[in-house]
Formats: sequence, structure tokens, C-alpha cells
Amino acid sequence: MSFRKSQELYQFAKEYLVGGVCSSARVNPALGHPLYLSRGDGARLYDLDGNEYIDFCTSYGASILGHNHPRIKEAVMEALEMGVICSYETEHHGKLAKMVVDLIPCAELVRFTGSGTETTMHAIRAARAYTGKDKIIKFQGHFHGYHDYLQYNWWPKLDVPEPDGPIPPVVQSAGVPEGMEEYIIVLPFNNLGALERTIKRHKDEVAAVIVEPINYNSGCIVPDRDYMVAMRELTRDNNIVLIYDEILSGFRMGVGCAQEYLGITPDMCTLGKCLGGGMPLSAFCGRREIMEQVTPVGKATHSGTYNGHLMMITSGIAALEEMSRKGFYDHIGRLADRLYEGMEDIFKRAKVKGRVQGLGARFGLYFGIEDEVKNYYQACRKDHGMFLKFAKAALERGVYFHDGWHHGFSSAHTMEDIDRALEGIEMAMREVAK
Ligand code: PLP
Repeated sequence: MSFRKSQELYQFAKEYLVGGVCSSARVNPALGHPLYLSRGDGARLYDLDGNEYIDFCTSYGASILGHNHPRIKEAVMEALEMGVICSYETEHHGKLAKMVVDLIPCAELVRFTGSGTETTMHAIRAARAYTGKDKIIKFQGHFHGYHDYLQYNWWPKLDVPEPDGPIPPVVQSAGVPEGMEEYIIVLPFNNLGALERTIKRHKDEVAAVIVEPINYNSGCIVPDRDYMVAMRELTRDNNIVLIYDEILSGFRMGVGCAQEYLGITPDMCTLGKCLGGGMPLSAFCGRREIMEQVTPVGKATHSGTYNGHLMMITSGIAALEEMSRKGFYDHIGRLADRLYEGMEDIFKRAKVKGRVQGLGARFGLYFGIEDEVKNYYQACRKDHGMFLKFAKAALERGVYFHDGWHHGFSSAHTMEDIDRALEGIEMAMREVAK
């Protein structure tokens, strides 16, 4: 398989774009350069070298409906035909907000934004305004976007097991002002004692707990339900806003998102990725009295030229209608079973140590680990080098894995796509085993 055009285009792009890309993660770590695509269609990607791939990146989880979905294209056209109006309200905005309120357990009021990064930033601002407190509890291995407030401990390198309490903040970017770390407390995930003790000690300072209810950013870590129930109670009892960051978990296993799956209602949640069906739409929503902190009702500023851009709003309506269709998640569930069981068998047949952890349409691959991964420290023990070898070998067989942490499929994938992909995965795994 040749990547000549992609390599040439990378050299060209590097002359003008920092690092040759618009998003740093787009450099494919297994190839050392991005793939330059000519198009995407359904479950497939096509690059300019004429290669075809079954996609298990799915735009980092945004393309839950697959690429080139006719309803999303229609929705974009509908918006364009209204005149490319951009910074105005239309009848569609309230309609989409009502759909979110009807589907998402914690949502009483909604605000739309563009990226997930903006969304988590505004969600914690509203929580701070509501409680009058400043600190935020976040968890090791949980990612919430690129703003300075939460730029800590998403993928720190760990040599020693996590402590049984607050973890020293590790800033994940240069350029974050010193002192920001005073506003966050980092805890190990899935550790109730650490959470209880920290809340008891810092309850008068903590405005919010922000958590990925399913920690897909560390592969796929499903927390103990008792722990999540206790988190709900502890935050409620101590005037702390519980925010589920559902930007990745939302609509992955059901239309009511992870909060419906767990049967626990947070105070607020953030949504993104699937919400726009591949278009850049995100939202924060939650209990009325918290959301009413936001301007113009309250004093927590949230505004922006492109918020709720019409193309994204009409796409959001189409995406929610599609995901609410009867049978949508049955199909996702059937594909998930076939893929995850198929890959587990392949690990065994190829005698490669490793495991798959998946829930709904997204999953983690942990090379070198056999026992269930329940926290970030365990997840860190995975063999990344082996994954890269596997990803390259799979790519050469037409199966596209991008990132080292989480992967996924769309509703456009068919059982035949999964079976065809499993063939490529098996060949790639045998090569890794050599
Ligand atoms: N929160 C979570 C859980 C995410 O996975 C991501 C992105 O991957 C974000 C926030 C940031 O979203 P965006 O990339 O749209 O800024």
C-alpha cells in the first residue's frame, strides 16, 4: 500500500500549517503523518493515494451516523437555503433545545456552543457562579478539552500507582499560567474513599465535580455503579455541582447518554461529537437554577458569534432524529458484540496478550493487559508500541485505527463491514505476534 501522496501533501502542508495539521492529534502516530482524504462515505474513508479503509476512528467519535449521511447533508442544505445566516435565532434553535430536554435526563435548559472545549469551560463557569465557590474536582485520565482550567492529568506518564487521595496536578500543556492548579483537585477515578475524604475536607471550596461517566479517554473504563451513586449523593449533600462530561459518552450506548445507562442524573452535562452528526455542535445543559446563572438571565457570561450556527442546529435536529429511530441502538449493540467478541478471540488465537473493553459504539484496546482495566494507572500499563505496530499493519489491510486510546464505529457500519474488518485485524494481529 502506498502513502506517497499523503507524504507529499504533508511536506507541503508543513510549510504553511504548524506541524502540517489543524489539530495536533491528526498526525497518525502509526504512520508519522496524517492521511489526506479525498472523501468519506458510510463506514469508509478514501485517501488521495487511492486507498480505502473501514473507519474505526469515526472523526474521534463525532461521525456516529457514518460519513456522508443523507439526512445531515439535507440539514446543511436547509440551513444554506436560509441564506447562510449565522448569528441569529431561528425556529430551529428552540426546537433542537426541546429535543435535548426531552431526551437527556438532567437537561432542563440548554445552551449551544461550537466545540467541546468551550462547552466544559462554560459549564464550570456556570457551576462556579451558582455555588460561589472556585475549585473543581477532576479525575486522572479524564479529558475535558483544551482550556487552561482543566489542562491537567489527562494522560500523565505514571510510574507509580495512584495515591489513595489527591494527586499532584500535572499540567499537560506549556503556556498555562502558574497558579491555575490551585483551582483544581485531581483524584484517582473509581476510588470512593479518595472522593469521600476530599469532599469532606474541601466541601466549602469545591464548586463542581466534572467526570467522564464512562472514561473513554482512557480506553473504556466503566466505573462501579456504587461509586457513581455515592458521587451523586456526596455532591448533592455538599452543594457541589455534578457535571457529566458526555462529549464522548453521549449517544454512544443510548439516546439518553451515559446518565440514562447508569440510571444517575447529574446536575449538568456537556454534549458534543455525536450531537451534530459530524458537524461542530456542542452544548451544556442542566438544572434550571444552575443554567439560569448564564447571561442574559444570570451573570455568568456566555455568548459568541458562531454559537448555535444554523447549519449545526439543523444537523443536530437530523442527528437526534436519526439516533432516536427505533432499532438504532439495537444495531449498534449487535455490531458491538460481534466486533468486541471477534477481537477478543483474535487476541487469543494470535496468542497476543491484550484485551478489548467496549461499551456501545466505542472501545479501548489494551495491548499487554488481560485483567479488566478499572483506572488510569492500570490503563497506562498498556503496550503503546505494540498498538502502533498493530495499527500500521491494520491500516495496510484497509482497517483504520488512529488514536492509541479510543476507537469506535458508526451506525453506517454493517455486519459485513465488521466481518471484513475482523479479517484485516486478524492478519494484523498475527503480524504483531511474530
Ligand atoms: N470532553 C471530552 C470527554 C472529550 O472527549 C473531548 C474531545 O475529545 C472534549 C471534551 C473536547 O471537545 P472538542 O475536541 O470538541 O473541543
